[in-house]
Amino acid sequence: MRKEDCIFCKIANGEIPSATIYEDGDFRVILDLGPAAKGHALILPKHHFDNLYDLDDEVASRTLVLAKKMAGTMTRALKCDGFNLVQNNGTVAGQTVFHFHLHLIPRYEGDKANLGWTPGKASPEELAKIAEEIKRAE
Ligand code: AMP
Ligand code: ZN
Repeated sequence: MRKEDCIFCKIANGEIPSATIYEDGDFRVILDLGPAAKGHALILPKHHFDNLYDLDDEVASRTLVLAKKMAGTMTRALKCDGFNLVQNNGTVAGQTVFHFHLHLIPRYEGDKANLGWTPGKASPEELAKIAEEIKRAE
């Protein structure tokens, strides 16, 4: 359940110190060393999963319940104006640490966090075709 040489396994299990804002038997929540905005934090399961594809269903559901609780606590503490949850899977999607984690990003009016994308265009026919492709794979 642990992976050799995984930095987030070591942080989650307390072998490497971190700015911890929450801990229980299954999770540690730490402040990100390279914050997008003040209070940017990461939910780390103590067990190793490379990414969302590998994540245990029970851990997946408890991660979102914890994210909801942390968003409330952090919003009260930091007086932020909004909140993003971000979760990257694969290098192309921006994942740099290959131990599943969920980013908790408080947002402030006028902050410099840059999490958006440029909207593309898709016709209803294209969307219908893509929807069929996905549903066929279920
Ligand atoms: P991702 O790009 O989604 O894989 O996110 C990895 C995040 O981990 C980045 O936001 C990094 O700033 C953060 N990070 C990497 N190493 C550490 C560390 N030792 N302590 C805290 N945050 C870290
Ligand atoms: Zn790990």
